[in-house]
Order: sequence, then structure tokens, then C-alpha cells
Amino acid sequence: MNQVNDILSLIGRAGRNADGSYTRTCYSSAYFEAVSIVEKIMIKLGMATERDAAGNIHGYLPGTGKGLKSIIIGSHLDTVPSGGLFDGAYGVAGGLEVIRRLQEEGKTLRHPIEVYGFNAEESSPLGGTFGSRAVAGLVTSDQPGLEDALKEHGLTVQKILDSKRDFSDAKCYLELHIEQGDYLYNEGLKIGVVNGIVGVIRYKVTAVGHSNHAGTTMMKNRKDAMVAMARLIVEADRRCRQIDDSLVLTVGTIRCWPGSENVIPGRVECTFEMRHMDKGKTDALICDIRKIANAIGTVTFEITKNIDKGAVYCDEHLMKVIGEAAGRADISHVVMPSGAGHDANPMAYRLPIGMIFVPSKEGLSHCGEEWTDPEDLENGAEVLYRTVLALDCED
Ligand SMILES: [Zn+2]
Repeated sequence: MNQVNDILSLIGRAGRNADGSYTRTCYSSAYFEAVSIVEKIMIKLGMATERDAAGNIHGYLPGTGKGLKSIIIGSHLDTVPSGGLFDGAYGVAGGLEVIRRLQEEGKTLRHPIEVYGFNAEESSPLGGTFGSRAVAGLVTSDQPGLEDALKEHGLTVQKILDSKRDFSDAKCYLELHIEQGDYLYNEGLKIGVVNGIVGVIRYKVTAVGHSNHAGTTMMKNRKDAMVAMARLIVEADRRCRQIDDSLVLTVGTIRCWPGSENVIPGRVECTFEMRHMDKGKTDALICDIRKIANAIGTVTFEITKNIDKGAVYCDEHLMKVIGEAAGRADISHVVMPSGAGHDANPMAYRLPIGMIFVPSKEGLSHCGEEWTDPEDLENGAEVLYRTVLALDCED
């Protein structure tokens, strides 16, 4: 019997809005309500629990083996404002379900097993994946705005730095999550064996032309930064599609100077964000974007890199174990990258990571319409359970 849906419904009692969406933003009372629910379940399952200053909840169940390292399962309990039931909470529910089922079947693992419910994975003034970064020791005191953002919650930077854990006693980190994209759903596949989390690279692209009178400057004489930027965006979008099916490019912000109805824009600034597992693909795209920009001619372009978060790779052995677990359970599966960031990302700096995806209906996420069918949720929990059992046979 798989009860992951029941556990998820229990967590979903926290932060449910009248319209059916969920709001459990970091450090909110609704978030801590979810923490309390998870804590109660952990205690009922016989786990030792602890909370830390980063707002994470952690449960530990010892194993029977001597000197064996922990198998850690985790995900986040916070949501975006008006988010869904599944993003994050499903992974925590999956970890708890593994332990519940072990006990139902009278099994005790040789390895200790741990479950984390992380805080502040979603974007906030603290920066994304805050809870897991704190535990992984990746929060640094020089993070801009951190001190003020923490003060809002009555916390100090030192307390967060103290939440760092030494993972030398842990074997691996596993995370079960909804895909949040439409690949599995569209392909009719049930499990994604994640091979990594794509790198995120952001460039600031500025078009510098010449502001002038919108009535008296003839079209042939214009150095219109807006038109040049528009051409660059359309061409870059076209080029991105040619390079690779899974390469994505987003121009998500635009600022225009002087920003007046009757003045030709002299300066336009955009962010070009690109994501892929393979740096070679993003490098090829930016190289082509530079060439396209040079060829436009009417304005000059300045292109500078703002953010370069490298891709994170899942552990090949864990991928194999997850794939075999799905195979033994006769559940269709495919190896795929994650286009979104997860708590597994910071954890990858400390431990081998493995991630299991289940389909998201129509690829919807971060909204009240987010949905995964109950049997798909059970499939994911089944694969996680079998993965843990297989890993427990190893040292
Ligand atoms: Zn998530």
C-alpha cells in the first residue's frame, strides 16, 4: 500500500487558499504549519527531529548497520505565492512514505535514513534554495542584502552559518519532484531519471543608438535602439531553436531610455538568459548572438555576462539504480535533464545526488492548476522506495 497521496494531503492542510492554490512563502506562519505537520509525522514514525535557524525540518532514523552512512531524502515545504500542492511537498511526502512503508512491511534499513523539509527553496530576498544552501554551507556572509532580509525574520547571518552540516556521515541525497515541464506528460512517460540540473547563464545586452525627435527624424536616418534590440531578440530566438531542442533562451526584462512616447529610444537594456546541460551549447548561442548583433549595424551592442551558474550533474550510479528500480516496477522511464533548479543543486556540492521526476499535467507549475495524477505520484514513491532498498544493500 502506497500512501504518498495521503501524506501529501496532510501537508496540504497548511497554506491552502480559497481558490485551491497554496501559499506557504518562506518563514510564514503557513510554512511553519507545514513544518509542524511534517514534524508530527516524523515523530510518529519514530524519527529524531530537529529544526534549524534556516527554517528547515530534519528527521533521522538510525539503521542497524555499524558505521554505515545515511541515505538522505529531501525537498522543500515552501511554495511560491498562489502555488500548487505538489512542488516541493511531494518530495518530502515521498521520503516520509518510504519510512512508513518500511515499517508497514516490517523492514529496517542497515543505513540510517533521513528526511529534510527545506525552507525558502523558491525565490525570495534570501535567494533561492536558501534552506538547502544553508545546510550545505553555501550561504556566505557577503551575500548582498542577506543581513537585512534575515532581520525581517528575527535572524542573524551567524545563525544561518551555524546551520551548516558536515555531510561526511551521509551516503547520498535523493529528491523526488514533479517535472514542472511538459516533457513526460506529452510523451506519456511516467518517470524521469534526472541526469542533471541545467546551467543558467545570464547576459546583460545593451543596444546603444541615438535618441532623437520622433517626428522629424526620417526612418532611414534613425539609430533606434528598440528596433535593433527587437531584431536581435527575434534572430537569437530563431538561432536557439536551430542549435538544440533542449537549449532555451529567454529575454525576460527590457528597459528603455529615455522611455518617452515621442522620442526614438537611444538605449535599450535586456537580459538574455540561456539554459542547457552542455556549456558548449550556450557558448555557441552567445557566439552567434554576438555575430547577429554586429551585423545589425544601426546601433552598437554591449554584451556582458552577469550570472554563470554551471550545470550540476546527477550521480551516474544513482541514475542507474533509479532506472533499474523503475524497470523492476515495470514503470516507463527516461533519462532527462531538469530545466528548473532544486534543493538537489546545493546538495550536489556535498553529496552524490539522484533525482526522480513524475509528470506535471500540461507542464503547469507555480500555479493553483499544478496537477499530477494520484497514480503518477504513487509511481514516483514506488521508484523512490525501491531505490532506497537497493541502495541499502550497498555499503
Ligand atoms: Zn520545487
